[in-house]
Amino acid sequence: MPAQFDITELHWLLDVVQSIDVGVVVMDREYRIEVWNSFMENHSGRGSDEVSGQPLFDVFPEIERNWFSRKVETAVMLGTRAFTIWEQRPNLVRFKSYQPITGLADEMYQNVTIIPLRSTNGESDHVCLIIYDVTSVAVNKRQLESANTQLQELALRDGLTGLLNRRYWEQCLENEFSRHQRYERPTSLLMFDIDHFKNFNDTYGHQLGDEVIREVARLTRLFARETDFAGRYGGEEFAVLLPDTPVEGAYQFAERLRKAIAALQIPHDGKTLHVTISLGVSSLEETMLNHTQLIEATDKALYQSKENGRNCTSIAGND
Ligand code: GH3
Ligand code: MG
Ligand code: MG
Repeated sequence: MPAQFDITELHWLLDVVQSIDVGVVVMDREYRIEVWNSFMENHSGRGSDEVSGQPLFDVFPEIERNWFSRKVETAVMLGTRAFTIWEQRPNLVRFKSYQPITGLADEMYQNVTIIPLRSTNGESDHVCLIIYDVTSVAVNKRQLESANTQLQELALRDGLTGLLNRRYWEQCLENEFSRHQRYERPTSLLMFDIDHFKNFNDTYGHQLGDEVIREVARLTRLFARETDFAGRYGGEEFAVLLPDTPVEGAYQFAERLRKAIAALQIPHDGKTLHVTISLGVSSLEETMLNHTQLIEATDKALYQSKENGRNCTSIAGND
């Protein structure tokens, strides 16, 4: 200690350390705790007397010892500060979060600064840890990230139905096409179009038409698997890409959907209206050079269904 050191100054310094709103821990080179401020007392529920002289790793068994001691030893060896940040590890020690933002963070997020302390002979014989509560920053950032993910997701979807929009759906088909070339798994495509829909709109109005489109999309989503790609291909045209599905499976899917949509009851002015769809299915063939050929084959099958009187499913190549 410097000769001119005034003991009252030390007293103030300790007061500051005690009341500051960050955790302060000073330990010797054996990780035994010597200083433990009130932030640490409040959050750990353990008093200074209780932990004094105890190794840090005994007080906090959750600390990953290898990782943390390596950080500390490096800081001591280099004589420089070291940091841990919440993005890499949410926290060093497990404290409950007292943030009012409940439900988003049960535990306190922490940044930690590790400071080697030099004694008068120039050697680092103590280490100070400063623990910052960064929960609100972390929670805000996490919320922003999840809002961004949701926005990105929205940009891929059609506003009316929530199905994949055409551009993104085609991108998925292209990806699936190249995946198929590598793994040679069966992949099928189903496309359908609402029958006489212009007439429906003209008779009952565009708004009810939109409602029908939404219902058709809802049923499509209901029947599709997690791994299928259901998209709105045009105004009242839809496409469902069925990975790992042979054409027979696609046909079954198509027929179930067709029947469900035909059974849909649409109330209007005290009456019950019905709509039907016409469908086409096909599957990827070795001879196909690109994904548009699959669309063309499916579209042709769909047209066949229209020709055959609508409200039915046709399989490509069966005409
Ligand atoms: P077809 O059985 O041959 O398919 O007869 P169609 O009348 O359905 O013929 P087409 O598929 O060519 O007609 C599409 C009609 O769908 C035109 C338009 O009135 C309607 N439509 C397209 N997009 C929307 C939309 O977003 N909302 C509503 N309400 N109607 C749409
Ligand atoms: Mg159409
Ligand atoms: Mg139509």
